[in-house]
Amino acid sequence: MQTYTYNPKSLKAEEFIHDGEIQDTLAYAEANKNNIELIDEIIAKAKLRKGLSHREASVLLACENQEKIQEVFDLAQQIKKDFYGNRIVMFAPLYLSDYCVNGCVYCPYHFQNKNITRKKLTQEEIKKEVIALQDMGHKRLALEAGEDPVNNPIEYIVESIKTIYGIKHKNGAIRRVNVNIAATTVENYKKLKDAEIGTYILFQETYHKESYLKLHPTGPKHDYAYHTEAHDRAMQAGIDDVGFGVLFGLELYKYEFAALLMHAEHMEAVFGVGPHTISVPRIKHADDIDPNTFDNSISDDVFAKICACIRVAVPYTGMIVSTRESPEVREKVIKLGVSQLSGGSRTSVGGYCEEERPRDTEQFDVSDQRTLDEVVNWLMKSGHIPSFCTACYREGRTGDRFMSLCKNGQIHNCCHPNALMTLKEYLEDYASKETKEIGEKLIEEEINNIPKEKVREIVRERLIKIANGERDFRF
Ligand code: SAM
Repeated sequence: MQTYTYNPKSLKAEEFIHDGEIQDTLAYAEANKNNIELIDEIIAKAKLRKGLSHREASVLLACENQEKIQEVFDLAQQIKKDFYGNRIVMFAPLYLSDYCVNGCVYCPYHFQNKNITRKKLTQEEIKKEVIALQDMGHKRLALEAGEDPVNNPIEYIVESIKTIYGIKHKNGAIRRVNVNIAATTVENYKKLKDAEIGTYILFQETYHKESYLKLHPTGPKHDYAYHTEAHDRAMQAGIDDVGFGVLFGLELYKYEFAALLMHAEHMEAVFGVGPHTISVPRIKHADDIDPNTFDNSISDDVFAKICACIRVAVPYTGMIVSTRESPEVREKVIKLGVSQLSGGSRTSVGGYCEEERPRDTEQFDVSDQRTLDEVVNWLMKSGHIPSFCTACYREGRTGDRFMSLCKNGQIHNCCHPNALMTLKEYLEDYASKETKEIGEKLIEEEINNIPKEKVREIVRERLIKIANGERDFRF
């Protein structure tokens, strides 16, 4: 008997992320983890590609039957193919400042850490970083900053975004700036909206309130409700696309998974649209952070299972895997539904301008240390199309308009050509000789996978124009 008020429509964190509902979900999943009849029903529902509830998806995550797990993996692969094709959207993080007033116990930017250098980029330094990123071939960034109202006020973030969008160096341009900064007010989110950000990304870290309070003992981030309700405020401010994430390793993964989906259901219930992306970071070693001190770490196999279950539970939500993961793990999970990867990342303030990877301001160790060219090359060799596309947001296809593009299957006439055209730009401007050769071949083959003949023709014409120096075509 439920004795609590779980309410996905509520605007109160503890009602839409209700601990009692999560505990009941976990008990239900545990009780049914070998209930093949129910698991078959859930898989059949997932095949309709309309998603699953947190309870249903939790049963799949708990399932121990190898045959059924394989079915979920196969379905995740199929959904990924149907919705996202073989495209992988590329981005890089840009660290603006490591000043932080919080005491997060897993993050080396916590205010008590005296080992790291505190650094905040000036607008001139941002320009240099962005030019270095443009010269790698990046078109999409995720801005990162510690929380510090004095050193990193919203005005600084907004000014930095303007600087970034304003830099035109050779054929380079940053066309989409996503922002990963601490929870803030509706007023400040409006400022980010006016600065034309893409997605507002905020990781919950953990949905488990008690653990959350211990893991964030001091600073503004200690306020669980304020943090958990942040995406709502961002939506209220008019930001259409928000990104979720859990820092896996902090709490029990099954708990986080159920809560993450409840959060998505809450967004659907209140705003009619779920999160644009879900990130799946795992805790990494960092300056004074030892991941072994967190006892909820997950194996690579569980990580893959989480990715597959997210894919079948929320088919229209993009999934992001960063360079926290090794090339091997990235290879494995791409197939299971990941739609965005970072490449050539440096997680330090001012890191892109340095010859050597700087360690003194690094937020965490990077496992995939390959250059962007190496990542692009690797993706293409395994049959993926690295995409530098930013069209949806620039064409106003955000929030529910993006979702309807997915739902109508128009993604192949739109995203596929955009991926090919932006890849072509990359090959012309930044690729090594070998990468260019592989890419040209891939583009030739992939044009045939555009469903509409008319679109194929236009793409062919535009590819020639790109080779002749024109840039920035999009559908
Ligand atoms: N300060 C902002 C906030 O509080 O949300 C910005 C986020 S921070 C720059 C980006 C993310 O890095 C955090 O949300 C956290 O999940 C992740 N992170 C922090 N320490 C980490 C570690 N040791 N390993 C892996 N990821 C970490």
